[in-house]
Amino acid sequence: MATDTFGRRIDYLRISVTDRCNLRCVYCMPPDGIEWKAHEDILSFEEIERFARIAAGEGISKIRLTGGEPLVRQGIVDHVRRLRETTGIEAIALTTNGTLLSQYAADLAAAGLKRINISLDTLDPDIYTSITRRGRLDDVLEGMEAAFDAGMDPVKLNVVVVRSLDQDLLGFARMTLDRPVHVRFIEYMPVGEVGEHSCASAEADGWSEDDHVPTDEILERIATEGAAAGLGELTPVSRDDAPGGWGPARYYRFPGAPGTLGVIAPLSHHFCGECNRLRLTADGGLRTCLFSDDEIDVRTALRTGTDEDVLELIRQALRAKPEGHNQQHGTVRHMSQIGG
Ligand code: SAM
Ligand code: SF4
Repeated sequence: MATDTFGRRIDYLRISVTDRCNLRCVYCMPPDGIEWKAHEDILSFEEIERFARIAAGEGISKIRLTGGEPLVRQGIVDHVRRLRETTGIEAIALTTNGTLLSQYAADLAAAGLKRINISLDTLDPDIYTSITRRGRLDDVLEGMEAAFDAGMDPVKLNVVVVRSLDQDLLGFARMTLDRPVHVRFIEYMPVGEVGEHSCASAEADGWSEDDHVPTDEILERIATEGAAAGLGELTPVSRDDAPGGWGPARYYRFPGAPGTLGVIAPLSHHFCGECNRLRLTADGGLRTCLFSDDEIDVRTALRTGTDEDVLELIRQALRAKPEGHNQQHGTVRHMSQIGG
């Protein structure tokens, strides 16, 4: 079992399999995208699988694949299968924008992927296209259907709440009334550039405090709007009853709803004390904290070193993992490069 300097058990690894993406979400990337890393700088699947095997020996048992958009990388299904077969890895999850999911869901499920998080910030087709600067809402909704059809469980929706986007949160709450979908509202985080303009403005240049909506406000809004719309009282879901998760979400539901509503508050409610994760970037940087640009290069060791060398870098990361992020604003890397 791996523990860090502060006694936290570290058993969860988030792997960004690519920095590339087919969307350009306003809160994640500049309009023209970012300069993609050269092919030779990106870890091969073999290198990622070797890293996962060594990390599993050190106590990592859960892996989430993310990106960029993980489904744009060719060969992702076989990669999932090989990771799933790695001794010590008990579960694989994937975070996706969902646009390509209808093509892949059945094969991914057959390869051993059960847990899926689909990022979707609005249920309005026009607003969806403007937030993602190119996506089609129907593709994502079809992807979600395909995930259910393939038997994936849990199916979660990640909704980043940004004040200037003026999202209809109640629409998401209504979705939980009909099916076991778990919607998680996530505070907009100051990762990547931090600017003065709101993220929805024409001259968007990064995170601003004005756009941050604390989860207490999100919950209050949903509870009030839900009650007014006749959905009943929003009540907390006990940990045992919540959809299995590896992170710090708190869950709620309306009476009789098969789905839940969760909130994730990295800023307004610090959860660093429960942090259980390491992150591997697509080009082989091992990050100990989303908000810290201190990275340990594991690519060189994966290309030229022994398993023992790689293991020592993992241990170095565990020793270097900070106690908390201290509300740092802005990082050198964009969210799409870190993987969220
Ligand atoms: N492309 C995939 C997707 O969108 O799900 C995976 C990568 S994306 C970087 C992972 C998650 O980070 C998504 O749910 C996205 O909405 C979220 N995200 C991106 N920028 C964010 C920000 N500044 N604050 C909070 N969440 C953010
Ligand atoms: Fe791409 Fe995901 Fe970032 Fe949107 S949030 S631009 S889908 S990486």
